[in-house]
Amino acid sequence: MATAPKEDTPAKPSNFLRAIIERDLEAGTYAGRLWAGSPGDAAHHAAGQPDPARLRTRFPPEPNGYLHIGHAKSICLNFGLARDHGGVCHLRFDDTNPEKEEQEFVDAIIEMVQWLGFDWQAHGSSHLYYASNYFDFMYRAAESLIERGLAYVDEQSAEQMRANRGDFNTPGTDSPFRGRTPAENLARFREMRDGLHADGAMVLRAKIDMASPNINLRDPAIYRIKRAHHHNTGDRWCIYPMYTYAHPIEDALECITHSFCTLEFEDQRPFYDWLLERLAEAGLLAHPLPKQYEFGRLNLTYVMTSKRKLKALVDEAVVGGWDDPRMPTLAGLRRRGYTPESVRRMAEETGASKHNIWVDYSVLDVALRDHLEGVAPRAMAVLDPLPLKLSNWAEVFGAGHRESCQAPAHPHRPELGLRRFELGPEVWIERDDFAETPPKGFFRLFPGNKVRLKYGMVVECTGSEKDAEGRITAVLARVVPDTKSGTPGADAVKVKGTITWLSVHDAVAAELRLFDRLFVEEQPEAGGRDFHDSLNPASLRVVSGYVEASVAAAAPDDKFQFERHGYFVADRKDHTAGRPVINRITGLKESWAK
Ligand code: ATP
Ligand code: MG
Repeated sequence: MATAPKEDTPAKPSNFLRAIIERDLEAGTYAGRLWAGSPGDAAHHAAGQPDPARLRTRFPPEPNGYLHIGHAKSICLNFGLARDHGGVCHLRFDDTNPEKEEQEFVDAIIEMVQWLGFDWQAHGSSHLYYASNYFDFMYRAAESLIERGLAYVDEQSAEQMRANRGDFNTPGTDSPFRGRTPAENLARFREMRDGLHADGAMVLRAKIDMASPNINLRDPAIYRIKRAHHHNTGDRWCIYPMYTYAHPIEDALECITHSFCTLEFEDQRPFYDWLLERLAEAGLLAHPLPKQYEFGRLNLTYVMTSKRKLKALVDEAVVGGWDDPRMPTLAGLRRRGYTPESVRRMAEETGASKHNIWVDYSVLDVALRDHLEGVAPRAMAVLDPLPLKLSNWAEVFGAGHRESCQAPAHPHRPELGLRRFELGPEVWIERDDFAETPPKGFFRLFPGNKVRLKYGMVVECTGSEKDAEGRITAVLARVVPDTKSGTPGADAVKVKGTITWLSVHDAVAAELRLFDRLFVEEQPEAGGRDFHDSLNPASLRVVSGYVEASVAAAAPDDKFQFERHGYFVADRKDHTAGRPVINRITGLKESWAK
């Protein structure tokens, strides 16, 4: 396995999250919890039943873009760990930021989680949730903090607040508004809610410790004023909770036990615990509270995994859209032809690590080949066509004769049956299967040499035709009678080379999209480089070739192994039987190190 992590990580990262779950299940940490059948506060769950789920995890995307291969890692971990331990994984839209979120992204995320093979139905109900449905509770929780002197409205300007936060070496300075009474703060906060203050005029901050060595505990902002239309709650709110405040509450209302997130949230964990404990003290939430655990992000070489930067590629028309087959989005990978099996396997084999890891892109290709090798029907295709004319055809068979040929749809799966095609007087071959003067070790077509047309007959090359510029326009050969594959005479003439081909009369013209990596650098942004500078100008080559009739008849998303060429898929958007459009997923073996 070419897993090749690039940082100081073991070659085969273990899955320490699994160990945490097993430890908790053994200790009974989450046994006896109550679950009311839907998210809610302590009172809501207190009226519920013992939770039928032994543990609860969640995948919490913000619906501000399309999912990418990094999210697949998180999806497979969260859904996979829950499934493996009798738990339930929620799909939760973390839609607390009104400005960047759209229904289009919600729909696309649902579609891709299902495509990966996961769902959120369990114990007779759907566990698809929207954080914005918790805005009422979040507001109530904020008032509770204020009433207990644990939050205050700060009217410093953003610059003052930043300056007074201090830094790693300097403790912060108290805001002049920090000493306000709970009653004053409550009145002010309600004015914020009621739209009496301008956007950005003030924020609500948790009152913790301006001298904390963890800057995240220096009175973090928890609510801001923002007049923005929200895709779910419309214009009902003009104040919105900050992510760091909203997320722990979302977890707690959903009775999440294990909240797995990526490493950049490690410094937020103390606030996560602080907030939930304070709300439990007030009776708003019940113990046991969710716990946050961080794992390393998955980075794939030659790929960028950041929604924001992928959006830039789309907006700047570097690619054709979110589902461009060169994109590391799940929509792009699906359109390229990667299967859910291959993506899940990549996620599994890369484990869960406490460091951000770089995984070699080839891991995905290896998983894809392993999956498709056993299931994809075989077919022939000619990607760089050159005519081969069999000059003695009429003499041997009669001008109108067509020889019917057959080949197994899959060499090891007879139940998939046979493919049939015909051999005629003129066939398409690959341009590089002919050489006027053969280099050493070249066993294919050159004047005087014999090769087998695979599943067809042996032909002997006699020469070629050229245009005025000297470019070869056709190869000339004679068919050798009585050498048809599968007949007793087939072995009478020994050849060293076998080539793929398609008859001019029954091949179907196809658009073949040959993709290469989008970036030429393993780490497109390493050393602070602008990713635009690492773009591969030749990441897409579109060629006009030919495919077997069986391929033209394929449904969108059908996958094939083209003999000698690799794995291909009928494009899910553009392919039709009348105008085949075929994407190359990957070659038969690793060929990137060109
Ligand atoms: P991006 O930076 O691309 O916007 P994000 O982390 O902001 O990603 P979210 O929608 O918040 O995107 O992510 C949903 C979940 O997916 C989070 O729990 C996040 O930690 C996880 N996730 C995102 N990228 C990766 C990655 N590269 N590897 C593992 N998990 C990831
Ligand atoms: Mg994000």
